[in-house]
Amino acid sequence: MEILVPVLIVIATVLGMEWVAWASHKYIMHGSGWGWHRDHHEPHDNVLEKNDLYAIVGAAMSISMFALGSEVVLGENAWWPATFIGIGILIYGIVYTLVHDGLVHQRYFRWVPKKGYAKRLVQAHKLHHATIGKEGGVSFGFILAADPAKLKAELKRQREAGEAVVRESAGT
Ligand SMILES: [Zn+2]
Ligand SMILES: [Zn+2]
Repeated sequence: MEILVPVLIVIATVLGMEWVAWASHKYIMHGSGWGWHRDHHEPHDNVLEKNDLYAIVGAAMSISMFALGSEVVLGENAWWPATFIGIGILIYGIVYTLVHDGLVHQRYFRWVPKKGYAKRLVQAHKLHHATIGKEGGVSFGFILAADPAKLKAELKRQREAGEAVVRESAGT
């Protein structure tokens, strides 16, 4: 039983982080925070993007949680669940960089999945990149991906409603 609660905290945090990432991507990064996200949506030859600052924000969240859970840092004021929240955020960060930076954008490895959920993840995020500018768009999450056919239909609807500028290559 003693291991169960920490494990549940880690799992809940990983899932919760997908919601946090989805909401911040949709409402902050494509809103007032577009200045940091914009270069991720535009072609360039640089190794790093301003958008990577968001990953550093995530790392800072994880480190803060480890500090909050640490008796070395806070003595008897340490709050033990924070350590496991920190581990959950760290795991989410690792999954994010493997899926988003690695699998989708091929920043440090190249493997094109031919089937299954990995293929769907890649397709869904490519469709996130199908819109030009910060308006509209689909698929703001990174580990949960909707059916690409549904995402294409939503892009078509947004284009026809004038809610987004959609690239021709998106196949909508
Ligand atoms: Zn985006
Ligand atoms: Zn991307």
